[in-house]
This record gives sequence, C-alpha cells and structure tokens, in this order.
Amino acid sequence: MSEELDLLVAGSGIAGLTAAVRAASHGLRVGVVTKGTIAQTATGWAQGGVAAVLGNISDDTEAQHETDTLKAGVGLCDEDAVHVLVHEGPIRVRELIALGAHFDRDPDGTLQLAREGGHSHARVVHAGGAATGAEIERALVAATGRTAAAVHEHVFARDLLVSGGRCRGLVLRDANGERVVRARHVLLATGGAGQLFSLTTNPLEATGDGVAMALRAGVAVADVEFMQFHPTALAVDRMPRPLLSEALRGDGALLRNAQGDRFVNELEPRDIVSRAITAQMIESGLDHVFLDVRPIHDFALRFPSLAGILAGVGLDPTRDLLPVAPAAHYLSGGVVTDLDGATEMAGLWAAGEVSCSGVHGANRLASNSLLDGLVFGARVVDAIVAGKDAAEPTGAMRSLTGRGGWSSVQVSSNGGLDIDKADLDRAAMQRALTEHAGVLRSDDSLLEAEEAVARVHVSPDDDELRNLVSVAEALVQAAIAREESRGAHARVDFPDRDDDDFRLRIVVRG
Ligand SMILES: Cc1cc2nc3c(=O)[nH]c(=O)nc-3n(C[C@H](O)[C@H](O)[C@H](O)COP(=O)(O)OP(=O)(O)OC[C@H]3O[C@@H](n4cnc5c(N)ncnc54)[C@H](O)[C@@H]3O)c2cc1C
Repeated sequence: MSEELDLLVAGSGIAGLTAAVRAASHGLRVGVVTKGTIAQTATGWAQGGVAAVLGNISDDTEAQHETDTLKAGVGLCDEDAVHVLVHEGPIRVRELIALGAHFDRDPDGTLQLAREGGHSHARVVHAGGAATGAEIERALVAATGRTAAAVHEHVFARDLLVSGGRCRGLVLRDANGERVVRARHVLLATGGAGQLFSLTTNPLEATGDGVAMALRAGVAVADVEFMQFHPTALAVDRMPRPLLSEALRGDGALLRNAQGDRFVNELEPRDIVSRAITAQMIESGLDHVFLDVRPIHDFALRFPSLAGILAGVGLDPTRDLLPVAPAAHYLSGGVVTDLDGATEMAGLWAAGEVSCSGVHGANRLASNSLLDGLVFGARVVDAIVAGKDAAEPTGAMRSLTGRGGWSSVQVSSNGGLDIDKADLDRAAMQRALTEHAGVLRSDDSLLEAEEAVARVHVSPDDDELRNLVSVAEALVQAAIAREESRGAHARVDFPDRDDDDFRLRIVVRG
C-alpha cells in the first residue's frame, strides 16, 4: 500500500468486503485493513439470516417490508433510506448468490424463508439453519480473493488522516509500528460496539472504533442511544454470550418466566421482548428467564449450529428449558451518512453497523443489518464511481441540515478523562454500562454510568479502550438527552414516547 489508493476500507465484514469486491470489479485500486484475520467479524457470527423480498416466492411485498422496518424504528427511520434498503436488498442478495453464497433451499430449489420478530411475513433467507453469517463471510472472503483487492490482516486503523477538511487516508498500526496510508476515499466498515457492555453477543473486535475515529475528527454521529439488546442470549457463564436466534421464536419457541408461564408475545420486536424479560428478571430476582424450544420439531436437524452450542454447555433442547437474558447486540446509530454512505467529511464514507444512514431509526428490525451492509456497501462504491465527492441532504444527513422536518440537538462527547480518579478498567466500565445504561435507564442511573466512564484508566497504547470510552461517553450523553422511551431506548423516568419531539435525532460530536 505504498501508492495512493482509490479506496481504503477499514473492516472485512459484509459492508467492507461487499464494497471491496465491487470497487475492484470497477477497476479501482482498493485496499482493506482489518484488525484481526479477514473472517474475524460479527458478520461471520450472524445466525438468523437476511431479510429480503425475493420475488414470486411468497405473497410478501416490498411495501410490507418497508412498513415493518418503519414500525420497528418507531418514527425515527428515514423513509427514503428504508425504501432504498428494501428495494435494493433483493438485487444485492441475488448478487451475493451469484458470487457463491449458498442459502438453504427446499428440495425443489426454492429458497427457504423464515419469519422473525417484527416481520409480517416469512422473508428471511438463511444458510446452514442458523449459520447464515458464516456462509456469507465465506463467500465474500472467497470473492475478495478472486479480485485484485489487497487485504491486510492484523492492521489496526487508529485514526483518520485529515487535512484541509478532507479525509485523505488512515493512520494504521500493526506489529511493525505506526504508518500512514493515503487514499482518495476511505470507507469505515468497522462494525458495532457491543463490547461497551459486560453482557453482549458481539465479538471482541466490536469496540466502536469507527464511531470513535469519527468523533475525534469532529464528524457527526447520531442515534447512539439506541443500542439494541437481543432478548434471547443464552445466560451461561461465557462472554460473548451465545445467541439463540430470533428464528427459534419464529418457529414456535416460547418464553417462560420462573413459574413456567408465558408473559409476552414472542414475535413482538426485540425492544418490547427485552423489556418484558427484564421486568420479569427484576420481579423474580433471577438473572434470566427461559426459552422453551421443545415445540420445535427436529431441532438438531434444523439448527445444527445451535444444537452444538447447547450440547457444549450441557443443555438438551428436547428436554431442558434454556436460560436466556437480554444482551447488547446491535448499535442502531453511528456515523451519520446520506443515502450513499457519504459522511459530512469529504472523502470519508461509512457503511454497515458503524453507520447511521437512517434505515434503523430507534430500533433495527431483525435481519435488516446484513442487508444494510450489503446495500450501503455497494452504494458507496457506485457513488464513488459516479464521481460523487460530497454528502447530500438525504437519509440521516438531513438531520444535520434541519431540512425535511428533521432537527438535531448537539451534546458533546468531551473525551476528557478524569485522570485524578482513573481507577476503573475495561471490565468495570462494561459492568457499569450494563447496570446503568442497559435495557432500562434513568437520569440517575445514566449519571452513574457517566461517572464510571470518566474514571476509566486508559493506557496510551490501548487503542480499543480509548475508543470504547469515547463511544460510551457519546452513548451515555445521548441517552441522558433523550428524555422519552422510544425503540431500544427505555427510560424508567420517562416511560412514554414524546411525540412532540418526534423527529428529533440526537447528534453527538467529539
Ligand atoms: C451473534 C450475532 C448474530 C447476528 N445475527 C444476525 C442475523 O441473523 N441477521 C442480521 O442481519 N444481522 C445479524 N447480526 C448483526 C450483524 O451480524 C452485524 O450487524 C453485521 O454483520 C455488521 O457487519 P459490518 O460489515 O458492519 O461489521 P462486522 O461484520 O462487525 O465487521 C467489522 C470489521 O471491522 C474490523 N475492524 C473494527 N475496528 C477496526 C479497526 N480499528 N481497524 C481495522 N479493522 C477494524 C473488524 O475486525 C471486522 O473485520 C448478528 C450479530 C451477532 C453478533
């Protein structure tokens, strides 16, 4: 990577590799840096699948997928962004199949479709039962290998290289030290930030690096109060917590409390199910409720990867009730972009979980996030190829311009650590966020979280902890500012939606 690249991608999940493969096919000089091995991603861990309305194989329509997505986002989705996601999703899924991804099919070759929480129809394509992400990552890694895109593993993107108000590359660090790589365009595809919390389904790499880099460079970040908690992470003494896919509830699995009674419609969106479970946990004093998968026939055949996980912890799905509890799962907000993934800094783009294009609003609909990476990873490249160089007032970017009825408030993620009292480590901060900024929050609890974050000791060479602290500050400040309950953000001191501030997007700048 000695000469200037056309596109430098940080991250090798679905968003980064989709962009890299597409950019290479257009003849762009593209490089990918990733901090672990190429396949070490949240993408590889995805279970349930990809939501897309794939033509004549059911009575589903794109309009219904849009309606379901908007409903889950509780008024904060950008309608144009959702339209783009839902409309271009099927095209991108077919391209993924053409690239070599194998999804589960009936014996006659028809794609199998699962139904998940919040979806009005069965429209989720999957692979290996609940091993969809592994198959997609495998196919994308193989496709990348067939292109001229250069992939550099174990390279950590530390910061944006900014001059004259434009992003001109990345500051990187690897075993040989620090260096700078220049590029005409930089794509942040660094994924989520589940590692902010002590209970999470996310891999160790999910430390919010891209969001933190953007904050340090003064680039707007929004909707970060909306950390989605997956309702059914297996409550065993292991971190990250193994996920028991939404698809199980779609297939008839039931939630039961300590008395064995059902307490919620299992097909409600995740925020509602997570809150109902948390309320049960508070009432019973237990740290879990139970998922009853006994109604699912042929469990081991249909969900072999989950059967393996359960066997590993000594649970038998045909007999045992499975202990589950909510765990941090998906950051619905991120770096603000327009409908092409352009951020407010020229030369800087974002796609996938790191971004906030407006598709998820206050809560991501199940299986819309792989789709997000596919659709917007591709749009970034198409926009670059078309010569686009500056963001437009579309998608979440509209909230920065105040156009179209959107508005924003600004809170500053001050990044100033309280050095005098810096006595907390990463694990202590994660526990504090789970306890005080988790499924249920209040002004008092968030102030406790704020204090804990200010007390974290960050050593100069711990880039990930530095990033976690920045994103934690942003999340807590945004959660304090949003004095209502909406989507994934539930305030016990403001239990209702405040529809007067209906379109208020909280923008954080570092
Ligand atoms: C257990 C689990 C199950 C899920 N199931 C589903 C599902 O069924 N359907 C669905 O739609 N979504 C699902 N999701 C969510 C989905 O997997 C993610 O949102 C999506 O894969 C994110 O893709 P991405 O390309 O944005 O990021 P990722 O796949 O997370 O990739 C991020 C990449 O960036 C790299 N990186 C990060 N920081 C740096 C840095 N500083 N320098 C260099 N590289 C860096 C990482 O190493 C990684 O390669 C699931 C998530 C989990 C954890």
